[in-house]
Amino acid sequence: MKLDAKQLRYMSNDEFRVLTAVEMGSRNHEVVPTQLIAHIAKLKAGGITKILSELARTSLVARVQNAKYEGYRLTYGGYDYLALRTLSKRGAIYSVGNQIGVGKESDIYIVADDEGIQRVLKLHRLGRTSFRNIKEKRDYLRNRNAGSWLYLSRLSAMKEYAFMKVLHENGYPVPEPVDQNRHTIVMGLIDAFPLCQISEVAHPGKLYSELMDLIVRLACAGLIHGDFNEFNIMINDKGEPILIDFPQMVSTSHRNAEMYFNRDVDCIRAFFKKRFHYESKLFPKFNRDAERKFSLDIQVAASGFTKQQQKELEKLQEELGSENEDSSDEEEEEEEEDEDEAEEVEEAELDVSDNPRGVTDELVDSLGNHIRPSEPE
Ligand code: ADP
Ligand code: MG
Repeated sequence: MKLDAKQLRYMSNDEFRVLTAVEMGSRNHEVVPTQLIAHIAKLKAGGITKILSELARTSLVARVQNAKYEGYRLTYGGYDYLALRTLSKRGAIYSVGNQIGVGKESDIYIVADDEGIQRVLKLHRLGRTSFRNIKEKRDYLRNRNAGSWLYLSRLSAMKEYAFMKVLHENGYPVPEPVDQNRHTIVMGLIDAFPLCQISEVAHPGKLYSELMDLIVRLACAGLIHGDFNEFNIMINDKGEPILIDFPQMVSTSHRNAEMYFNRDVDCIRAFFKKRFHYESKLFPKFNRDAERKFSLDIQVAASGFTKQQQKELEKLQEELGSENEDSSDEEEEEEEEDEDEAEEVEEAELDVSDNPRGVTDELVDSLGNHIRPSEPE
């Protein structure tokens, strides 16, 4: 998924109002009826069609015509736009550079602030396609947050940020948390290589025990990383590990804590055996070594990511996990969906001029007074 930062400069006041209105409507409509968008944006019906077409042309929203009504849904592009705009207003980012990572559930970019300091932007992208299946089955989503891939991605980013913050404040080797908005986080750039790219280390035994110590140190603080592997451990030029990627962290009081703990330990043992031919009889055990001495998991809850949100996210993640296992044609589905989107966009293009209207800086500054954004900016 490409991120088009240039778009940021070419949006008129009305376009921004309409895009924000689509976001607000998405809270309880997967497809937001055009009339509702017009109502929220307080624009006349005639004007709104043109603006929505323009937003659809640049793929910030997608037009959906279903049996009951015509409407629009926010795309990841539109959601990215809203988050970037907030982050740039707050000074967390000024420019967007190269993409450095593509995961199944995230996109990672190098960004810079207005002083040229490089940072990392992570956009969470959780199961937009598989979500539909879940939603049909589950009641607890029905009355709320219909655009749930937005909600899930946002929860996931909030969680990652909350954990990163608490870990950073308590001296764990993790990136510096800089800012968080919607489905994104901004963090310090780690000058290091992922362990998976490293073919040799001077002292594998030393690194092995540092990593096992880190797992134990986390557990003694009440936490398990849950995805502690060579892709989420970066090694700097001094050979020190830095841990990243926290959306799946769990508390040691989680009912499956022991399984998660052992899995993290086993990942490291297996990797060291395979890559460095290093094996040790010594490795931590949950019952013996994960004795809780203090409770960072409680600090996380206090930092703004509540227990309730944690529970909700876990439940959704579990469901997504099992959905992904049994839907092998998911990628196909995604492709089909992209084609649909292209058609929708083409349709919308017919009555739109090709020139994006430029916006002056004053206009940009005066935006957003009339519509309450979904989060404080
Ligand atoms: P995912 O959830 O998709 O696995 P990660 O947070 O693990 O995303 O990031 C994916 C990749 O992006 C990492 O393997 C690493 O190479 C790079 N990366 C992520 N965060 C940083 C960072 N703060 N500094 C440098 N590189 C990073
Ligand atoms: Mg990762």
